[in-house]
Amino acid sequence: MKLYNTKSRSKEEFIPLNEGKLKLYACGPTVYNYFHIGNARAFIFFDVVRRYFEYLGYEVTYVQNITDIDDKIIEQAIAEEQPFHKIAAKYANAFLEDCHALGIKKPHHQPKATDTMPQIIELIKTLVDKGNAYEVEGDVYFDTASLPEYGSLSGKQIEDQITGARVAENLSKKHPADFTLWKKSKPGEPWWESPWGNGRPGWHTECVVMSQHYLGDSFDIHGGGIDLVFPHHENENAQAIALTGKPLARYWMHNGFLNIDGEKMSKSLKNFFTARDILQEYDADAIRHFFLSKHYRSPIDFTRELIEESHKAMQNFYKAIDAFDPKLLEDIAGKEATMDQAELDFQDAMNDDFNTAKAIAILFDLAHKSKKAPDQIERGRAAATLLRLGKTLGFFQNMQSRSAREMPDLSKSLIELILGYRSDARQNKNWVLSDKIRDDLLAIGIEIKDSPAGTNWNLRK
Ligand code: AMP
Ligand code: ZN
Repeated sequence: MKLYNTKSRSKEEFIPLNEGKLKLYACGPTVYNYFHIGNARAFIFFDVVRRYFEYLGYEVTYVQNITDIDDKIIEQAIAEEQPFHKIAAKYANAFLEDCHALGIKKPHHQPKATDTMPQIIELIKTLVDKGNAYEVEGDVYFDTASLPEYGSLSGKQIEDQITGARVAENLSKKHPADFTLWKKSKPGEPWWESPWGNGRPGWHTECVVMSQHYLGDSFDIHGGGIDLVFPHHENENAQAIALTGKPLARYWMHNGFLNIDGEKMSKSLKNFFTARDILQEYDADAIRHFFLSKHYRSPIDFTRELIEESHKAMQNFYKAIDAFDPKLLEDIAGKEATMDQAELDFQDAMNDDFNTAKAIAILFDLAHKSKKAPDQIERGRAAATLLRLGKTLGFFQNMQSRSAREMPDLSKSLIELILGYRSDARQNKNWVLSDKIRDDLLAIGIEIKDSPAGTNWNLRK
């Protein structure tokens, strides 16, 4: 398998640290609001990475943090007039609900920053003791000049930082690129006790502590959106190297942006739609298909037309599968002894730096084959392979509930049909039948009312 490693800016052969095992970390959300559909791209993509390695037979450990203390959470707490931990808990729950609705498998560990405070403080203490960090009046900074490797992930030179627009001027720092490990709390802000006084940790430190706790000093893949390469991942990696002499991860994978009108979808630009709102319009299958139809590193433009097309493409897949007895398909899918060429092609696509666009084209061919292949067994096999491989991308999780979702429409049509028969009976003055229909409907909770304008129905309250 080849993966594009942001660190080397090239595709590299993936070699796990321990054979047959994958240790994966992807940065999770800062929980100060509902996440937007651009964030969903990152969460869905790393869910696919995890699923695909599992499909290959790897024993995967996937960790994703939840940042539940941050300036933005404090601001939101003031805006909603709530304590910060209530705001964080509210949006952390919403995050979990929305991920579930997007068909994202729960990571093996989802630690929260506030649950990791003693380890965070311990890590900062070690960096200070080693001479890689220094305190200035209750704030602690990482000393970037102390680490020759600083910049090795993002390719940035420390000198670039002096004029770098993203690094705020701060006269107490030794160097503009030095970043905060511990931040002194202002009056009224949440705080934790530390050797440097009351304060709270910096975001870059939280991820190092939480990833290393579950995955070890150095693990296989670290992921996130492309905006995290610098400064977040550079700063995470710098701390790890300072602590252990080893990089935090061997492969760094970053997804491209979801754009809107050519601009990154983001909270600060206020050009976003929450995943929650989009899930009211489209199901998880359509949303996942929309993202995965493009390579994960390419930018994608958000348009409803494209999601609509993805919805249709998924309906085509469902149709191909629905044509067969689901039990039988599951049986074939589970027992497949020899691999189809299609499956080998699917693996080739996925092994080439997660070319999900090509993988989906192979699913499309399978759907076609499941309808058009000359013999029944071949058609069944194609549908079973489509189902199994599609699940690797997280499709087809709503086999039951999808039918259930379509039921309300079907129920409405059935009621209209029955009311039509009743109307015929009334026209024929068959009062016995028309009353029987009314009473039988009432018995199952459907109340009908006749009026000169026609007949209405309602569910009995
Ligand atoms: P945040 O909560 O802002 O730290 O973002 C959570 C994840 O979403 C990170 O991996 C970000 O890099 C990613 N992300 C944020 N905005 C976008 C976007 N417009 N498109 C793709 N990924 C994004
Ligand atoms: Zn992180």
